[in-house]
Amino acid sequence: MEQLYVLGTGNAAVTRCYNTCFAVKDGSEFFLVDAGGGNGILRILNDMNVPLNSIHNIFVTHEHTDHILGIVWMVRMIGSRILSGKYEGNLNIYCHDLLPDTISTLCRLTLQGKLCKLIGDRIRLVPVTDGQTERILDYDVTFFDIHSTKARQFGFTMNLKNGKKFTCAGDEPYNPICQPYVEGSDWLLHEAFCLYGDREKYKPYEKHHSTVKDACELAQSLNIPNLVLWHTEDDQISVRKEKYTAEGREYYHGNLFVPDDGEILDL
Ligand SMILES: [Zn+2]
Repeated sequence: MEQLYVLGTGNAAVTRCYNTCFAVKDGSEFFLVDAGGGNGILRILNDMNVPLNSIHNIFVTHEHTDHILGIVWMVRMIGSRILSGKYEGNLNIYCHDLLPDTISTLCRLTLQGKLCKLIGDRIRLVPVTDGQTERILDYDVTFFDIHSTKARQFGFTMNLKNGKKFTCAGDEPYNPICQPYVEGSDWLLHEAFCLYGDREKYKPYEKHHSTVKDACELAQSLNIPNLVLWHTEDDQISVRKEKYTAEGREYYHGNLFVPDDGEILDL
């Protein structure tokens, strides 16, 4: 059975947890999605016993710091293993068409030349278009443009081996244009910046983010049976699960997950 490894659950500015990123585990392989904003990705992967040698496929949703900068660390660490003969196969980094240039530039400015030379060789930057399907692990993964107004961003959907449809909607509110990709999902991964009750304090709408109530109403209206909320503020991290779950239950009657960093969910 596939598992969802929750590596980080915070928004861009958090300090008490890591930025939202995750991996789907199938057998001994992991499909990593985003890598947070720094080398905290290495700690959480280590803490969760995810070997770098088990990561050959990464998807980067968009260019914002809290999603892309950890990718530089993945290139650095996996690239070093490639150079020392300790990594089999290639690393594929999937992303929308503007990001290969961004990722290679970030790497070129911050990593040693011998690592950068692997890009285009054993580290492959694979651009995808809206609606494109790629075979990743044992899955047909279909990428889609979430139509962000802030920075071009893609999500994806895929069918798990148990037939369930698993969809990542990125870090902005669901846009109805994406309905063909999101409808019928058994699992929806969606952002929730804060509680609806705290909207005056955190001003999620100014930042084009949702509250727990908004995300839950959406999932309810789409009849999504399993909803994962993350990309949150971290001021009350110790009671986040309890408070977000309590607010969400008022608006959503499916299985609501408000995971902490380091949790593993059975899909
Ligand atoms: Zn973000």
